[in-house]
Amino acid sequence: MSKIDLTGQKFGRLTVICDAGRNRGHVLWRCACSCGNETIVFSGNLRNGKSRSCGCEHAEKARRRWLHKHKANPSPYLADRYEGGSIEDLEDLIR
Ligand SMILES: [Zn+2]
Repeated sequence: MSKIDLTGQKFGRLTVICDAGRNRGHVLWRCACSCGNETIVFSGNLRNGKSRSCGCEHAEKARRRWLHKHKANPSPYLADRYEGGSIEDLEDLIR
């Protein structure tokens, strides 16, 4: 089965670095995200636009939504804790 070489191509924040093998017949690519992380993604997810960052894009959107929602009741402690954390960590804090 031939595959399309995506090396060097950009998809959102991701730039394809090299082939990362296969998983159950799906081609994987090692990608560099503009935030500095590296991630492995499925070829199909790159090409259909599902994978556009290492996950940081999603985290930033979630963080903005969260900060907007809590504007009426700001908690610097929670906001600080959330810097660099995941949305799951944050949900644990506000539960
Ligand atoms: Zn990223």
